[in-house]
Amino acid sequence: MSDITVASEEAVSEGEIRSAVRELCARYPDSYWRDIDRSEAYPEEFVRALTEAGWLAALIPERYGGAGLGISQGAVILEEVNLSGANAGACHAQMYVMGTLLRHGSDEQKDRWLPPIAAGELRLQAFGVTEPDAGLDTTSIRTRARRDGNTYTIDGQKIWTSRALQSDLMLLLARTSPPDPERRWFGLSTFLVDLREAGDAVRIVPIETMLNHNTTEVFIDGLQVPAENLIGEEGFGFRYILDGMNAERILIAAECVGDGRWFVERASNHARERSVFGRPIGQNQGVAFPIAWAHVRIEAADLMRRRASELYERGEKCAAEANMAKLLCADASWQAANACLDTYGGAGFAREFDVERKFRETRLYQVAPVSTNMVLAFLAQNVLGLPRSY
Ligand SMILES: Cc1cc2nc3c(=O)[nH]c(=O)nc-3n(C[C@H](O)[C@H](O)[C@H](O)COP(=O)(O)OP(=O)(O)OC[C@H]3O[C@@H](n4cnc5c(N)ncnc54)[C@H](O)[C@@H]3O)c2cc1C
Repeated sequence: MSDITVASEEAVSEGEIRSAVRELCARYPDSYWRDIDRSEAYPEEFVRALTEAGWLAALIPERYGGAGLGISQGAVILEEVNLSGANAGACHAQMYVMGTLLRHGSDEQKDRWLPPIAAGELRLQAFGVTEPDAGLDTTSIRTRARRDGNTYTIDGQKIWTSRALQSDLMLLLARTSPPDPERRWFGLSTFLVDLREAGDAVRIVPIETMLNHNTTEVFIDGLQVPAENLIGEEGFGFRYILDGMNAERILIAAECVGDGRWFVERASNHARERSVFGRPIGQNQGVAFPIAWAHVRIEAADLMRRRASELYERGEKCAAEANMAKLLCADASWQAANACLDTYGGAGFAREFDVERKFRETRLYQVAPVSTNMVLAFLAQNVLGLPRSY
């Protein structure tokens, strides 16, 4: 094991986390990520190193072999990964998917699954929620789980299930009772599916995408899942998934901050070094000001991310803040991406400078895991008291 590890026994400062993660990420330079992107591969070596150092088990309590850190520290880890030029999308789900098991799983389930996940022996990187005909309207999903004795038989289809081919386990949301118009949230259940045992009942087909995200379609036909793999109570799965959303929003916001700072740093360096018309392009306010604006927006958005993390860690309500953080950070990173591309001019489109890769990667956060529209619709309804629109 590397000496760059999570110091789980004593309190670790943000600075210590930053420098340790930064040191690890420095072993995987731009060229590593460029090659992975070009070949649409999975960054096995990087994910293994991050796992072995304990960073992906940061949020798992110490009694299960994790570091027992808080969401603020988890966020700093993912921020540093993206700030290094890497893409945390390859492994971030392990941090938030595990939360459903941690909060709603039985003691037996936690004892069985969390230690091997923390030790890096099992990967829980796949999260099967979205379906082709349901989209953002999760309560309309049709994947069906029918119980017969001690086994559930599951049939259906998922889309955009990222890392299903690289994961041992998948957290799957399926319908266990017919839709009830009075209780739209009821009737869905969460299962921990062991993909290693699924055989022909699960067919996983990669989707070619604009960015390398190892995302797939998952066709499920007669999958047998032991009833002991049902997480929590039958019918309450949608609540459990919603419960994990705030953590997911905060962690994604942190990745956006990492991306945003990467764009500002690269744009600033280029604006200092590139000379046209006999002077550095950064001397032109038309070049400098968009970069400065990008910096301002990222720093402001980061404050909302920190506010949301604090509330989350105190166990207080934070849905509004977590959603605002995700929206503001995603927006700030996208503005920074555009400022950086403009600063690079034609070079921004050349693969060798990585700007176009990070540009594609950060664009995703406007749409997934939740779209900007849905965040605004949530805030309009739940914070401002406007009529429900979804
Ligand atoms: C690369 C990638 C990886 C992903 N990984 C995963 C994963 O691992 N697991 C998983 O379960 N899902 C995953 N997703 C799915 C992702 O969460 C969805 O794409 C996202 O939630 C949007 O759903 P949709 O694509 O079906 O869009 P739709 O629901 O079809 O919506 C399309 C557009 O319409 C807008 N819209 C819809 N309804 C409303 C409304 N009422 N008001 C305003 N606007 C509205 C949306 O904002 C959106 O822009 C991934 C997606 C991508 C692209």
